[in-house]
Amino acid sequence: MAAHILDRVPERESLERRATDLLRRLIRFDTVSPPGNERPAQEFLRTLLEPAGFECELLGVVPERPNLVARLRGPADGPRLCLLGHIDTVLADPGEWSVDPWAGELGGGCVWGRGALDMKGQVAAETAAALGLVEEGWRPEAGELLLVFTCDEETGATYGARWLCEEEPDRVRCDFVVNEGAGAVMEFGGRRAYGVCVAEKGVFRFTLTTSGSAGHASLPRIGDNALVKMAPVLGALGDGPTQYVRSPEPAALLATLGLDGDDLEATMGAIQSSDPRFAALVEPMLGVTLTPTMIAASEKINVIPSRSELHVDCRVPPELGEEVARRAIHATLGDDGYDVRFTECVAGNRSPADTPLMDRIRAFMTREDPYAHVTPVVLQGFSDSHWWRRAFPECVAYGFFPQRAMDAVEAMSLFHAVDERVPVADLGLAASCYAELAVETLR
Ligand SMILES: [Zn+2]
Repeated sequence: MAAHILDRVPERESLERRATDLLRRLIRFDTVSPPGNERPAQEFLRTLLEPAGFECELLGVVPERPNLVARLRGPADGPRLCLLGHIDTVLADPGEWSVDPWAGELGGGCVWGRGALDMKGQVAAETAAALGLVEEGWRPEAGELLLVFTCDEETGATYGARWLCEEEPDRVRCDFVVNEGAGAVMEFGGRRAYGVCVAEKGVFRFTLTTSGSAGHASLPRIGDNALVKMAPVLGALGDGPTQYVRSPEPAALLATLGLDGDDLEATMGAIQSSDPRFAALVEPMLGVTLTPTMIAASEKINVIPSRSELHVDCRVPPELGEEVARRAIHATLGDDGYDVRFTECVAGNRSPADTPLMDRIRAFMTREDPYAHVTPVVLQGFSDSHWWRRAFPECVAYGFFPQRAMDAVEAMSLFHAVDERVPVADLGLAASCYAELAVETLR
């Protein structure tokens, strides 16, 4: 089995070189969203994939923001494997960075720049894997290899994955998706584990309002200041106990790390005292998060506000709904003194954890890092996988970008942050993984 794979997957060194070069070029396309302006980057990728035999389509709502769908068909019917990525990034303030965020610099064994981790690095690794395989003469024996690079992931997928899955389902329908979400090594208590993101939390954003009565600001006791009433609310949201909710993915992770999954409070206490940064990564997986992000009150400096509005970004474990969010709010804030109005409700979804795709990922990682484990995890945030699971209930969508040179805590701290970078060794590792998944799935 191993010999068969190693015969056909291109050498690590050449994959690493190609993925590194590709990533540096992709970073130089400014695809900060909004406005995104992803077209030049998508056309660049098309000029690589089309001559290699991929049928390429640029599909979109507006000309400046197309999605790229590239397809390599095998001679017989079979499974469809989609290597997925988004080409847009969040913004960067060059003044805060130690390098130019759009230069694609190479230094200290890493490619630096906005999008290196989120997620042009994975797009580069997926493209390098596909091109490397084709150059070695590989074609799917059965089924199809799809490369889908979306626009507009960072601001809601209106032009990107959501639109593609809802409006062009026949172009992107598939059986397996490999996307972003997890894969960097987690180390705790002497154990090492690679997470495969099989599920995402839901988004339940709400506006919390406090009310009082207006008055002249020179007479502070005359009015009833709605803004001051936010102080205990903010305090409770900042310090409140986590509202734990049991779900299978964190249970699997804790078991893999040799931790008690029954007493979540005690377990989190133990993680917190030995590794606070790892705790910050794990805790949101275990329940509902309530994060206040925006606040508004009086529009006049000399008027005591009769009303104050706080916007809270709330995330709920997969497949659960508004009632779970409401329960967490009440447990944290009590029942009185505020009103809550939900403004955005999208329940998270999941794929089964026991699938041939998981087996193939496990087989690859076990060869790469024999003493490490592979475990399902839930993403604390949201990704394009959501739209594939929703549109195609049979589709298994996982987030997996394996990283061994950079661990999960460091990777997480660089997402959307200053000096984002990815080790070239991890680009090679990921490209090898994707090449192997294609060979093993499409036969
Ligand atoms: Zn992303």
